[in-house]
Amino acid sequence: MAYCSKCGSQVNDGDRICGNCGEPVNGANRTPETANSNDTWMGILSYLGFLALIPYLIKDQSSFVRAHAVRGINLLILEVIAWVAVGVFSWVPVLNGILSTVVGLASFAFSLIGIINVANKEDKELPFIGNIRLIKG
Ligand SMILES: [Zn+2]
Repeated sequence: MAYCSKCGSQVNDGDRICGNCGEPVNGANRTPETANSNDTWMGILSYLGFLALIPYLIKDQSSFVRAHAVRGINLLILEVIAWVAVGVFSWVPVLNGILSTVVGLASFAFSLIGIINVANKEDKELPFIGNIRLIKG
């Protein structure tokens, strides 16, 4: 037998709300914001280059996956732009090497940060580029 956390009256085991005051029992009415394992995998896909299209294009994803998929697509577009810029300088021997190294490392770092956010079930923006929105959610 449970007791209402708000008013202290007895609540039957099957009841989701207190019959006396209407308070949800054991958080029954609270929808948990924690991601399930499917959300985690879909979130990780969001930061694996073109695989971000999978969580982005599948409808009915949780808001957690959706937000990460949009971040992943934004990152992907930025990376494409960066690689085009690297291509423009491909005729400059040393500069091209430096640029491609920087872009490669940055792409890797942003993907890693995104995946860590997903693994920690955190719905946060990527640093530095988080507010650059080339596509909306
Ligand atoms: Zn109550």
